[in-house]
Amino acid sequence: MNSKNPVKVAFFSTKSYDQEYFDQANQDLSITYFEASLDEQTVNLCEGYEVVCAFVNDKLDNAVLDRLHAYGIKLIALRCAGFNNVNLDVAKELGIKVVRVPSYSPEAVAEHAVALMLSLNRKTNKAYNRVREGNFSLHGLVGFDLYKKTVGVIGTGKIGQAFCRIMKGFGTRVLAYDLYPSEALAEDGVEYVSLEDLFKNSDVVSMHCPLTPDSSHLINEQTISMMKPGVMLINTSRGGLINTKDVIAGLKSRHIGYLGIDVYEQEESLFFKDLSAHIIQDDLIMRLISFPNVLITAHQAFLTQEALSEIARTTLENIHAFEQGELQNSVY
Ligand code: NAD
Repeated sequence: MNSKNPVKVAFFSTKSYDQEYFDQANQDLSITYFEASLDEQTVNLCEGYEVVCAFVNDKLDNAVLDRLHAYGIKLIALRCAGFNNVNLDVAKELGIKVVRVPSYSPEAVAEHAVALMLSLNRKTNKAYNRVREGNFSLHGLVGFDLYKKTVGVIGTGKIGQAFCRIMKGFGTRVLAYDLYPSEALAEDGVEYVSLEDLFKNSDVVSMHCPLTPDSSHLINEQTISMMKPGVMLINTSRGGLINTKDVIAGLKSRHIGYLGIDVYEQEESLFFKDLSAHIIQDDLIMRLISFPNVLITAHQAFLTQEALSEIARTTLENIHAFEQGELQNSVY
């Protein structure tokens, strides 16, 4: 490492917790923290840097990648697992390498999915507000035992596996669907079934697969109609897995009994920002918020101390490896 010429990193979509954990872990990189997210309007901030560090809602599309190439950026260091926000074909063509943090704390995300399930079921969010106002009535707070219910898990990679293990601990029957089933999970009693059987038999469906052309709008009018009436749907993966309009129709008809989401298809213009004094223009999210049986968190499933430390450590290691001519945690 050349301490006189530290690698210059342009860091986008910075929040105070990012800076805190990266500053703790960083020894020799020169990091400039931009609050702005990366898109066509802000890409000019990258001039003079060597590496761009981006997060889930930074837009690394054709136009942005072209400009990064023109500025001589050779590496995009994603500080997240998903990479659906990067046009990889264009990055490859331009010779820009893309690295990520494939696994920082699968348990952080799995546990948040469980938090959504339990809050929706036992309505602790409502109870909290009621009790604070001196309302000790239990009316409308009836939940159900998770014990012996059937939970369907779509995608049994790192997060899906952690989620399945927690669900087995709750005494539920766990059905799973994945393109590549895990033998270890099957040995632990998780039953791999077809997607159709999973939808037909699950009381709770939880999404843990990545967003790809194949999985885009996997939850739509047709798949919702296969699900049990009153089903609980949980999505901590990516918003695009769900066709929001169809889910709203499912909630209105009461076919969907509960919806818990940490991600939303149009989240880029909303999440990670305080918009409490603004008139929100997105009518779909406002409709979702209006349902009493919908719980939305703003992409916080990853947000634990352990995950933030691991994200900072791996991202910095990825950049150091690249500097030394090696590629670590590359997405292609
Ligand atoms: P992973 O790569 O370990 O596992 C993904 C699994 O999905 C794999 O087993 C893969 O075979 C399977 N899969 C791929 N396409 C599928 C399809 N069409 N149908 C069914 N299964 C399919 O990934 P992971 O670390 O478990 O993360 C899963 C997803 O969680 C990420 O892609 C990301 O979108 C999301 N995520 C969200 C947060 C958050 O804060 N909300 C944080 C991290 C990751």
